[in-house]
Amino acid sequence: MNITVLAGGIGAARFLAGLASVVPSESITAVCNVGDDLTWHGLHVSPDIDSVIYTLAGLEGEHGWGVRGDTTATLDGLRALGIDEWFGIGDRDLATHLLRTDRLRAGATLSEATAAVATARGLRVRVLPVTDDPHPTVVRTAEGDLAFQEYFVHRRAAVPVQGFVFPGATAARPAPGVVEAIRDADVLVIAPSNPFVSIGPLLEVAGVRDALVASRARRLAVSPIIGGAAVKGPAAEMMQALGHEVSALGVARLYTGLIDTFILDTVDAALLPDVRALGLEAVAFDTMMTGDEGRARVARAVIAAAS
Ligand code: GDP
Repeated sequence: MNITVLAGGIGAARFLAGLASVVPSESITAVCNVGDDLTWHGLHVSPDIDSVIYTLAGLEGEHGWGVRGDTTATLDGLRALGIDEWFGIGDRDLATHLLRTDRLRAGATLSEATAAVATARGLRVRVLPVTDDPHPTVVRTAEGDLAFQEYFVHRRAAVPVQGFVFPGATAARPAPGVVEAIRDADVLVIAPSNPFVSIGPLLEVAGVRDALVASRARRLAVSPIIGGAAVKGPAAEMMQALGHEVSALGVARLYTGLIDTFILDTVDAALLPDVRALGLEAVAFDTMMTGDEGRARVARAVIAAAS
């Protein structure tokens, strides 16, 4: 059974780690968002891909990003030089960005550089960037258009959002294997990720949405909204700002036409009839991925819901 996961960062990474603990890693493909990518002192950083790789390797930091127990000598050194550095990269994390950037400068594609990083971390899950082309997410705000990390990290996601723009979308082609992984999967899961800035950018790449619509897979999505709030991050605020109902039902509406089954948390079980009224199958269980056991439990329940 081949399982493809449409993935953002931390929520997706935790789900993938659970999945890899209950099915063979070789059967899993993660199609990852690159809208958050940035250039940091000349280095190509792919935050969502790195969250997925570090988490699958069991190395993720306490807050879900970076490397656990990492040191900050480089950042401290930059600040000592008078550089006002707002994006935090740890010293061990830096090694990943050096490897990726070296590969890219030597002519590798982002897919090839990602595979090099994943292999070096011992992964057998296939980790694919959705595209090898530049495909940044731009956040439209009252203060103007902001690059994603400018909005998310520098402004701490505190600027009201008006919408999103994907200037690379028209030229971006799916990376090798992406369309096939979506079209030919047995099970396809939209991870519990931000619908606007993690899953949205994936669907903007030409051919990806069509592959999802045409896929022969059993297609499921796990709600990132539980009890009307995001587990973490700005997804709820974004739904509110863009005029969507801030609930699992609001997320289900966003995915209608793309999936067969919507999974919401037990605390939202009262919404099951409303989700079914959208023409979707709906299942409720505890979707909090706390600890290794929580991740594995959610992965098992999603597989059960697919069969
Ligand atoms: P980011 O780019 O690192 O913020 O990561 P994602 O887009 O993958 O994930 C963020 C979303 O995942 C947020 O909307 C969270 O509410 C959701 N999320 C995180 N952990 C969990 C969890 O344990 N269960 C569920 N259902 N959603 C989660």
